[in-house]
Amino acid sequence: MLRLRRGRESRARVHPWIFEGDVAQVSDVEPGGAVTVVDAAGRFVGRGFYNPRPALCCRIATRVDEPLDAGFFRRRVEAALARRARGGEVPGLARLVWSEADGLPGLVVDRYGAVLVVQCLTLGMARARAEVAGALRSFLGPLPVASMDEATPARLEGFEPARGWLDEPGPETVIVEEGGVRLGVRPGTGQKTGLYLDQRENRARVGGLARGRQVLDAFSYTAGFACHALRAGAERALCIESSSEAVAGARENLALNGVAERAQITQANAFDELRRLARSRARFGLIVLDPPPFTRGRGAREAAARGYKEINLRAMRLLEPQGILATFSCSHHVSGEAFEEICRDAAVDSGMSLRVLEHLTQASDHPVLLTVPETHYLKGLLLEAV
Ligand code: SAH
Repeated sequence: MLRLRRGRESRARVHPWIFEGDVAQVSDVEPGGAVTVVDAAGRFVGRGFYNPRPALCCRIATRVDEPLDAGFFRRRVEAALARRARGGEVPGLARLVWSEADGLPGLVVDRYGAVLVVQCLTLGMARARAEVAGALRSFLGPLPVASMDEATPARLEGFEPARGWLDEPGPETVIVEEGGVRLGVRPGTGQKTGLYLDQRENRARVGGLARGRQVLDAFSYTAGFACHALRAGAERALCIESSSEAVAGARENLALNGVAERAQITQANAFDELRRLARSRARFGLIVLDPPPFTRGRGAREAAARGYKEINLRAMRLLEPQGILATFSCSHHVSGEAFEEICRDAAVDSGMSLRVLEHLTQASDHPVLLTVPETHYLKGLLLEAV
C-alpha cells in the first residue's frame, strides 16, 4: 500500500507519476512489485508498479481496482493495438505501445514487419516482459520478440538492460517500407528500438519538399530523411552523423533505395561540420536538423538551449533563398514555445526572415495525453527563407 500525502491525490488521478515527495507511507511492496495507491484518507486512487530506487517511485497503471496480472496486460495491449488498427489491420511498421499514453507506463513496443521490439523502462515492466510478449503474441501471432532496453533508465531503476531475442531468435536484419522508402533495421542493435519511428510522418512530409533541391540531413542516423528526399527527386544529399554504426546503416539504406550515387555521408560532429560548410560557402535548398535531446536532466536546459541555437543559427546561414529548414527538438525539457523562441533568436542573429510553413510533431502512434505533458516531446518547425 502506498499512501499519498494530503493534497497530492488530484494530480495522481490524472497523471501516473508519483515521486518520493508525494508519498506519506509505503508498506508491503517489494521493488518492482504492484502497489495500491490511496489518498491521505485511505481512498483508492489506483494501482501501479513501485520502485524505491528512483525519485519517480511509482507509475500508476490502472485507476480501477484490478490486479496487474496477465489479464491486465492482455486488455491494455488489445486496446493499444485496436487504436493503431482503427478498424483494419494492425500496421506493419508502427509504435504499438507507447508507455503512459497507452496506459502501460514504462513500456514501449514497436513493430518492424514480422519482428516486435520491446523496451522496458522500469523494473516493474522488465519483470512483466514475458507477460507482455505473451499478450502481444496472442493477438499478432508467434512473432519473434527482441528486447532493446536503454542503459540509463535501467541503471536508474536497478535492473540489467536486456538486449537481443527474448526466446526464439528472429532475423538479423528486417527491411521495412516507409512511404515507398526501404529502411533496414537490425533488431536488438542501434539506437532507440532500431528506427526513430516518431519521425516517420515528418520524413515523408519533408522529403516531399525536396524535389530539385540540395539537401543537408544533419544528425542523420541511418539517413531516413535523406532517403526520402532523394527518392522524391532531390538533386543531392549530404548526411552528417557522428556514430559509425549509424553511418554504416545510412550507407546500406542509401544503397537499398538506389540513391547512393547522389548522396554523401560525412562522419563528424555536426557542430564542427556546419561551421566548416559555412566557411566553404556551401548552400542548401533543404536542411534537416534532428539532433539528440542534448540533455536528459533539467539542470542542463540552458546548455541544450545554447546547442539548439547554435545549430539553428548555422543552418539558417546555409539556406539558399526560398530554402527550407526542418528543425526539431526531442528534448522533454524544452517546450514547444521555448524551442520556437530559440529558433527566433537564431533567426535574429542570422538576419534571416523565415516563414513558418508548419508546426511538426511526433507520429500519431505516439499519442499525447493532455494531462501528461511529458508525452509530447517531439517539436518541429518547418521554416522557409523569405
Ligand atoms: N533523423 C534521424 C534521427 C536522428 S537521431 C532519423 O530520422 O532517423 C540523432 C542522431 O544524431 C543520432 O544518430 C546520433 O548518433 C547523432 N548525433 C548525436 N550527436 C551528434 C553530433 N554532435 N554530431 C553528429 N551527429 C550526432
